[in-house]
Parts: sequence; structure tokens; C-alpha cells
Amino acid sequence: MIDNDIARIHDLLARFSAGDHGAIVDLVAPAFFDYVPGPDEPTATEIYDRFARELKAAAPDLTVSIGDLARGDDGLLHGTVALHGTLTGPLWGIPPSGVHHTFEIPMTIRSVDGRWAFNAGLGPPATIAILRELELVNPADQMHLPPRHPVILSDLILKLAFTGQVADKPCTHLADVRVIHPAGDLCDDCAPGEVWPTVRLCLTCGHLGCCDTSTNKHARGHWEATGHALMRSIRMDEGWIWCYVDNALFQKRTLDAIEARLVASGSLPAEPA
Ligand SMILES: [Zn+2]
Ligand SMILES: [Zn+2]
Ligand SMILES: [Zn+2]
Repeated sequence: MIDNDIARIHDLLARFSAGDHGAIVDLVAPAFFDYVPGPDEPTATEIYDRFARELKAAAPDLTVSIGDLARGDDGLLHGTVALHGTLTGPLWGIPPSGVHHTFEIPMTIRSVDGRWAFNAGLGPPATIAILRELELVNPADQMHLPPRHPVILSDLILKLAFTGQVADKPCTHLADVRVIHPAGDLCDDCAPGEVWPTVRLCLTCGHLGCCDTSTNKHARGHWEATGHALMRSIRMDEGWIWCYVDNALFQKRTLDAIEARLVASGSLPAEPA
């Protein structure tokens, strides 16, 4: 018996691989696998479409296929997504490398109203290995050094990589945010001349500390010393929040909403545009 879901998915991926961008919109349901976006939030269709366009612009020969797609006893589809592509254009801040990459990603797929929701079975180590091969993350022996390129990664990719889900995890600390903008760009606790990949801002008191891959990990030390659980990147083009207690990552929209609330209540001056 022909499984129509499998036949359709193969067909749509073949269309995308041949250069038909519309195939992504026909393939990806608005709902994420574990999360239905609210009316003001981007849909999975929009996120995957943008992601696919960015990848195809960087690697015009990109092909995507799932050779082993099959229906499991759980009624869901399971398979291994294979991506092949040569980076001949810039990707998220890294210059073109000319390198051909192959990635295989375990995937679980559920039918949703004639389209499909996707769940990649990658944990943080496998995700970081992919980002490292793409030179978006430093080599393992250089993680404590500044990044080689000013990479900007989608906060949704970071959320998936570090929490394994699209839905927000519970966190009681968001009400503690008092500071949104950093007063500087140096670690408060490092000695002059020390280097770090990046600096994190404590959203409770404004402390600036070097990040978790730095040699000194002063941001983490600040949390351990004070219990201040929330931090963000000091890069204003990154807006995610990390909670050390709940291992939760919130996207920029959460920080923007908190900032708007603090400004409206008079607790925070409005930033000049
Ligand atoms: Zn929390
Ligand atoms: Zn430091
Ligand atoms: Zn603090």
C-alpha cells in the first residue's frame, strides 16, 4: 500500500532540491511539532521557509532528502534527513568556504491538516557539532577565545539546540528582570588583558560577566554567588534570555515584551531609537 504522506513528502523535498521554494510552504504546517504559535508569533511555515531560503542562498546546490522515511508503530513518520550542499555564499555571518557538507539528522514527522510538523532528534552535542563543522562555532580547543566571525544565530535555533523544544519552558524568574541594556562591554571580574568569547548581562542587577565557554566563566559565577538566574548576550542584535536555574531559553520577543512592560510602568527609561 502506498503511504500518501511519504509519497508527498518525497515529492516536495525533490521540488525544493530542484529549486522550487514554494515546496517548503506546501510541506511545513504552521504548527511546530510541540508547540502551536500564538496569533502574533511566526509560524513554523514562516520560520522553515526563511531558514530554507537562507541555506539555499548560501549553498545553491543544496539538496534535501529522506531515504529511509517510514511509518512507525506510533503512527508517526520516522527517517533521516540528508542535506548536501556547498557553501559558496555567506551564511549567518561566516564568509563562503567553498566546502561541501553532508549532514544527516534523525527526524520525526507528524501530519497536520495536509502538511507536516517536524521534530529533529538532535541533542545539544550533535547540534554544536554541525555548527562547528559550518565554522559557526569555534573548534573545541578554541572555545575560550573570541569567535573568528561575528556570527548571528537565530534565537529559535539556539532554543532548539539548548532546550530541545520550541515551546517556552516554565521559569519563575522572568518577573525579576530589572535591567535590559548593558552599561559596558567588558567583564566586570576579569583582569585587564584577559580575553573571552563574549560577555553576558545579568538581567537582575546589570553585572557583566564572561560567558560559559570562557576560561573564567564569571557570568555563571555571578549566578552561583547571587542567585540571579537570568542573563542575556550583550550583543543588542541578539535578544535571547537564558535562565541558569531552569535551563530555559526565551526568544527576543520575550525580552522585548518585558522591556515594553518596564518602560510602560516607569521602571525603565525608554531607549532612544
Ligand atoms: Zn528561571
Ligand atoms: Zn570574566
Ligand atoms: Zn546580578
